[in-house]
Amino acid sequence: SEKDAALAAAASPAAADTPTIFDKIINKEIPSTVVYEDDKVLAFRDIEPQAPTHILIIPKVKDGLSGLSKAEERHIEILGYLLYIAKVVAKQEGLDDGFRIVINDGPNGCQSVYHLHIHLIGGRQMNWPPG
Ligand code: C5P
Repeated sequence: SEKDAALAAAASPAAADTPTIFDKIINKEIPSTVVYEDDKVLAFRDIEPQAPTHILIIPKVKDGLSGLSKAEERHIEILGYLLYIAKVVAKQEGLDDGFRIVINDGPNGCQSVYHLHIHLIGGRQMNWPPG
């Protein structure tokens, strides 16, 4: 399955730089609904939205960031920038009553695409604890 392939890819030494479907989204080889874009990041609507607003914010250059667990000191700037853009997009989407930011990491975190991404989820009441 696609998930098994992703897990196998994540376990291999080259996983950190193995291209994912998000590269095709970045390169516009497959369509997505882009809500924010600049030279460093892309934000687009999740194809399987879990709330009225569900947007993914990703770095355009993966640079080994297959997931947050692979973060190194050189990634500090892009990590902060991604979080800031999540806030900018939340405001743009009118999520003035709040929202949720999620980063799934690895098998236990239910990560399915091994290119770091921030989920921005909102437009309804969230629950705690998450599933
Ligand atoms: O955190 P996780 O890796 O599970 O999130 C991947 C997300 O990417 C999923 O929410 C999935 O719906 C989304 N996705 C997408 N477009 C694709 C492939 C996956 O929006 N072509």
